[in-house]
Amino acid sequence: GLLSEAGYNDVTAFSTLSDGWAYLDQPDVELNLILMDKAMPDGDGIDAIKRIRATPHLADKPVIMVTGFNDRDTLRAAFDAGATDFINKSFDEAELQTRVRSALKLDAALTAYKARETELYLLTAQLKVANRQLERQSLTDGLTGVANRRHFDQALSSAWLEAAQTGSSVAVAMMDVDQFKLYNDSFGHGIGDECLRIIAQQLEAVVRGAGGRISDLIARYGGEEFAAILTTDRAQAVLIAERLRYEIEALQRPHPRLSVAAVVTVSVGVAVAAPGSGSSPALLCAAADAALYAAKNAGRNRVVVSDQS
Ligand code: GH3
Ligand code: MG
Ligand code: MG
Repeated sequence: GLLSEAGYNDVTAFSTLSDGWAYLDQPDVELNLILMDKAMPDGDGIDAIKRIRATPHLADKPVIMVTGFNDRDTLRAAFDAGATDFINKSFDEAELQTRVRSALKLDAALTAYKARETELYLLTAQLKVANRQLERQSLTDGLTGVANRRHFDQALSSAWLEAAQTGSSVAVAMMDVDQFKLYNDSFGHGIGDECLRIIAQQLEAVVRGAGGRISDLIARYGGEEFAAILTTDRAQAVLIAERLRYEIEALQRPHPRLSVAAVVTVSVGVAVAAPGSGSSPALLCAAADAALYAAKNAGRNRVVVSDQS
């Protein structure tokens, strides 16, 4: 009566707890505020508030306890049970309306807060996914799908640090496709790109299959140049380098204008070093590069091992 006079038209009243629960237990029940008497014919209102607080879809709803009891113990029990507010039954109209209004305001604020929180949670999750994707992209070569130069530099630094701790050595193999300019000239840049993709995948398969460490990888170092990090000793590194060279020749990809073979080949330069005075990742790469240059000069499609180690 009083509530509808105050403009609250959507009021549903129950005279027993069991009728009330039949309504409240619907998981999709929509409500903004519960007014609860303490002494109900079929149970105690304070126990009912406890049950409301323990019911997930009702737990945050404001509950005003309306009662004829006016003692401190009842008041405390109501608030302990989770009541939002407490009105004595001898309330006047204005008091009821004021308290209902403020409880509804609280509910609206809480609902808005929860919506923002959910939105923020979703945004954060989306951001995490995007970040991971971006991180992956920033370490991957777009054309071939293998590691890019940046990833190579990071991986070599960490392989170097690890080798310094374990007292082991690190090898770098530099590979350059033989007379690739002529390949492009024969088949066009598109087929050239396709060839680079296949070479990259083949090199990666060799490194993966070599039983090396997780940190071993193939990277696209430049246009038609690739580099491998091999955390292993000199003898093993030379074997893997020869395997890398062999597997590209074994692809038997025709290269009509190549002077050495009739198929696409790579030249490989290998250098091995252990962290210590006078050595560094940069010097290691420079030594591998010099060995690659020597392999080119010696006639291509071969492995040259640097003696600077
Ligand atoms: P060498 O045996 O001395 O290495 O001869 P080369 O022709 O491979 O060497 P050069 O440095 O003269 O030419 C490299 C060629 O690689 C030229 C360039 O067009 C090609 N190239 C570099 N990056 C790409 C690429 O992303 N896609 C394609 N299709 N070709 C590329
Ligand atoms: Mg080159
Ligand atoms: Mg080349």
